[in-house]
Amino acid sequence: MNVIQMVDLTTQYKRVQQQMDEAVLGVIRSGKYINGEAVRDLAAGLSDFLRVKHVIPCANGTDALQMALMALDLQPGDEVIVPAFTYVAAAEVIALLKLTPVLVDVHPRTFNVDVDKIEAAISSRTKAIIPVHLFGQTADMEPLMQIAKKYGLYVVEDNAQSIGSVYTFRDGSRQAAGTIGDIGVLSFFPTKNLGGYGDGGALLTNDDGLALKLRMIGVHGQSRRYCHEITGCNSRLDTLQAAIIRVKLPHLDSYIQARRKAAEAYDSGLKPVADWLETPECIPASTHVYHQYTLKVKHGKRDDLQKYLKENGIPAMIYYPLPLHRQPAFKNRVKMGGDLSESEKLCRSVLSLPMHTELDDEQIEYIIFHIINYE
Ligand SMILES: *Cc1c(COP(=O)(O)O)cnc(C)c1O
Repeated sequence: MNVIQMVDLTTQYKRVQQQMDEAVLGVIRSGKYINGEAVRDLAAGLSDFLRVKHVIPCANGTDALQMALMALDLQPGDEVIVPAFTYVAAAEVIALLKLTPVLVDVHPRTFNVDVDKIEAAISSRTKAIIPVHLFGQTADMEPLMQIAKKYGLYVVEDNAQSIGSVYTFRDGSRQAAGTIGDIGVLSFFPTKNLGGYGDGGALLTNDDGLALKLRMIGVHGQSRRYCHEITGCNSRLDTLQAAIIRVKLPHLDSYIQARRKAAEAYDSGLKPVADWLETPECIPASTHVYHQYTLKVKHGKRDDLQKYLKENGIPAMIYYPLPLHRQPAFKNRVKMGGDLSESEKLCRSVLSLPMHTELDDEQIEYIIFHIINYE
């Protein structure tokens, strides 16, 4: 059996090696390392794939979140709602821009912001909500968008983990994660479902005005050469990364299928231990692209299970070990948008199993066998 890895990027590369090598060499030989053709091609390809009008590539997902907030003309002290159980990036850029992160608890079964708890966290200073589509499925966007509309709030979707997930509204219409709010954010960090071989990110929007502004922000606030309209930053996607991601984009559907197949095998294989191990739950409105396959381990057994798996050559990771309000950087710098006990509990019980496009049946059976036989 091949060594089990949390993510396996080299095997995935080998499947497209020739095309990838040509794409990379093509960029090097072209001499156009900044804003080359591949950057435009990738943006057009993503725009088709996600059915969104504007795709603005940038340097990484965290920059994309920052640029999104910069485009919204917020004032220092304005409040932005984020989930308490999540990756740090959204809260970090909120704080960086001297805005106040307001933390809302997450739903214990879906790990996404608990939409029923958002309204209680809204104040007169609230200007935006950042739902983070965690682990591969979309937050419950229909009621979330209704709340945003009712209070006049912007919605910036942190879609770094859930590219390709699709949300179905009650009227039957379907929209890709990241294209529902005012602005959506992607990350092409290598381990993401559509990853480059370095850093990369993009912004998504259907709003022409916001698109224009986001493009300006990414090039030092420049409207034309050496005319700086607004304060921006320097955030571009390298042509090399764009060329790499462009080779992978046509395979994204099959990558998602491979992840789903692994998830289904885990789901059914782990049924016998359902009394102490909860497998991920999908909300009916969202498809799941399994960026992570995250279990909830009951009865305080999580850390011991992780150790046991490691001893048996099975990596398993804790995403995330601390809720944002317990992070040293955020203590006393965030506002509690209500009780955060579900987030606290999740940090003590979540465990993510190996999940990537190259897991084979033998590896999955081995993982299931060991979990089922854990005492
Ligand atoms: C990866 C990630 C980011 C940041 O993306 P980078 O490209 O690494 O800056 C932001 N939010 C979430 C939820 C992520 O998983």
